[in-house]
Amino acid sequence: MSNPIISIIVPCYNEEEALPLFKAEITTVAATIPQVSFEYIFVDDGSKDGTLAVLRQFSEENPQFKYLSFSRNFGKEAALLAGLEASTGDYVAVMDADLQDPPSLLPEMYNAIINEGYDCVATRRVTRKGEPPIRSFFANRFYKFINRISDTKMVDGARDFRLMTRQMVDGILTLTEYNRFTKGLFSWVGFNTKWLEFESLPRVAGTTKWSFWSLLLYSMDGIAAFSVKPLALASIMGVLFCLVAFFSILFIILRWIILGDPVAGWASTVTIVLFVGGIQLLCTGIMGMYLSKTYLEVKGRPVYIVKEKSKDIVN
Ligand code: UDP
Ligand code: MG
Repeated sequence: MSNPIISIIVPCYNEEEALPLFKAEITTVAATIPQVSFEYIFVDDGSKDGTLAVLRQFSEENPQFKYLSFSRNFGKEAALLAGLEASTGDYVAVMDADLQDPPSLLPEMYNAIINEGYDCVATRRVTRKGEPPIRSFFANRFYKFINRISDTKMVDGARDFRLMTRQMVDGILTLTEYNRFTKGLFSWVGFNTKWLEFESLPRVAGTTKWSFWSLLLYSMDGIAAFSVKPLALASIMGVLFCLVAFFSILFIILRWIILGDPVAGWASTVTIVLFVGGIQLLCTGIMGMYLSKTYLEVKGRPVYIVKEKSKDIVN
C-alpha cells in the first residue's frame, strides 16, 4: 500500500519574507513523519510583492510544492477554498504562512486522526498575549454574542489551522456559498473535532493584514452568515416600542383628564423622536445587511479567479 498523503494548504498574501522560513520549518516537520507523503498547495492571493516568484521557484525545485495564483486579492477565505478544491491528499491541513500556526503540531494532529479516530484536529490559542486589550475585549464579546444567536458553535480563539480527513473536506466543498466565513463552515459541517491548545506566537516576518476595522466588518459577516436572529430582533424591538407607545398614550390621556393639558415636555418629545428614528434606522440597516448578502449570493459570481498555477494542479 502506498503512503497516505497530507495536503498542506497555505494562503499567502505578501509573504515573500515568511515563505522561505515556512518552507524550512515544514520540511523539517514532514521529515519526522516519514510514513506520510506530503503535497503543498500555496495560494498566492494577489500579492503585490515577490510572493509569486518565490512560489514559482519552490515548485521548480520540488514538484511537491504546488501553487495557484489569483488575478487579484480575493481574501483568505477564497484562498482557502481554492486550496481545498485543488487538494488531492487523504488528509488536508490548512495553515498560515507566517508560522503563527506551529507546523510542529502536525505529527500530534495526524496521530489523533489515525489512532484516536477523530475526523478533524483543530487548534485554538489559549492566550491573546501581544494583542491590544481592546481587540481581545471585542473578540470576546463577538464569540459570546455569536454563540448565543447562532446554532453553529464558534470556539473562542479558534484558528483556521487544522488537519481534516478527505471526507470532511468533501463535506466543506459541498457548501458553495459566496460569503464564506470559514470558521463557521468548519463547524457547520459537523464531524468529530479534537481541539489542541497552544500559546499564540508572533509572526516570523511581515505584518498582519487585519486592522481593527476589517476585523469588525469580518465579524459582522460572520454573524450575517450564521444567524438570522438579528432580523427577529428587529421585529421584537418594533413590538416593544409599540407597547411602550401604547402605554404612554394611555398615560397622557389619563393625565389630560385628571390634570388638564399644560404645554410642557417638548424636550422629552424630541428625545423620543430621535430615539425611535435611531431604532428604525438600525432595523433597516439589519435588513440591508441580509439583503446585500442575498444580492451577492444571487449574482453567483465565482469566489476567486486563477491567473496562474503550477502544472500539476488538476482543477
Ligand atoms: N492572507 C490571505 N489573503 C488576505 C489576507 C491574508 O491569503 O487577504 C493570508 C496571509 O498570507 C496569512 C494568513 O492569511 O498566511 C493569515 O493572515 P495574517 O497573518 O495577516 O492574519 P492574523 O494571523 O494576524 O490573523
Ligand atoms: Mg498571522
